[in-house]
Amino acid sequence: MSERLYGCVEAGGTKFVLGIAAAPDDIRETVQFETRTPIETIGATLQWIKDAQFRHGPLAAIGIASFGPLELDRGATNWGYITTTTKKGWSDSDFGALTGRELGLPVGFDTDVNGAAIAESRWGAGRGKAACVYVTIGTGIGGGAIIDGKPLHGLSHPEMGHIRLPRHPNDIHFPGICAFHGDCLEGLASGPAIKARWGVSLSDLPSDHPAHEIISWYLAQMVVTLQSIMEPGCIILGGGVTGTPGLLGRIRTKASELGGGYFRGRPDEVIVSPGLGDRAGLLGGLALAQDMVSVVNTP
Ligand code: ZN
Repeated sequence: MSERLYGCVEAGGTKFVLGIAAAPDDIRETVQFETRTPIETIGATLQWIKDAQFRHGPLAAIGIASFGPLELDRGATNWGYITTTTKKGWSDSDFGALTGRELGLPVGFDTDVNGAAIAESRWGAGRGKAACVYVTIGTGIGGGAIIDGKPLHGLSHPEMGHIRLPRHPNDIHFPGICAFHGDCLEGLASGPAIKARWGVSLSDLPSDHPAHEIISWYLAQMVVTLQSIMEPGCIILGGGVTGTPGLLGRIRTKASELGGGYFRGRPDEVIVSPGLGDRAGLLGGLALAQDMVSVVNTP
């Protein structure tokens, strides 16, 4: 059987990364550019993929792992749209359906975090686990749950960044920055929430600064919440904030304390760093594209 090639799109709020790949270790070409208006950025994406097929040959499918929120119901008239995003100019933008029409190919379409979660589950830190969760903690906080290889969807994709938490006793006056909820998890522990309180990123604060205790406590609360709901085999913590030296260890210690020895798995085995590094986004596009071919070929 000849090798299938896939178009992979990691569509972020600040940059787009595109690639042509046959497998995670067989990426033929990549390119990236800044996210501008939908017309410019999606137009450039479609043109690059069209041109890439002349260089590499025909593609079997496209996978788009996009910033959201997204319409993922394939029965909806606006399937494949970016819906009510706070990113200026992008609300109500057709992306997935337009890509399918323009390129004449099956399109896998899901959130960037679900894409990264599938990729981590298939090829990275979540390999071999029946259930895993990937959470990114950066400009925002978002999470995807993978169960038996498939991302969990309800009416839409999960919005794990917006869970409500008890307030840390030394952090009771900060109102939080979430536009919808104020002091939800994203409103308290995302990169911008850290900067709003202390003026710099967590990694720029000395290791004895109280911010480390407060932020790791919130993230440990999230971990214990996820364990309570689904006892995933691993909870993979990615995103810019998690690059802070010592943070992962603090989260493990606090999650153990908060969990009271109730949950299975050693903290250093359950609470882990991503295995794919910064490739998780693009490989999310690959995983979504591959799944379209297996869906299409299923009798
Ligand atoms: Zn919120």
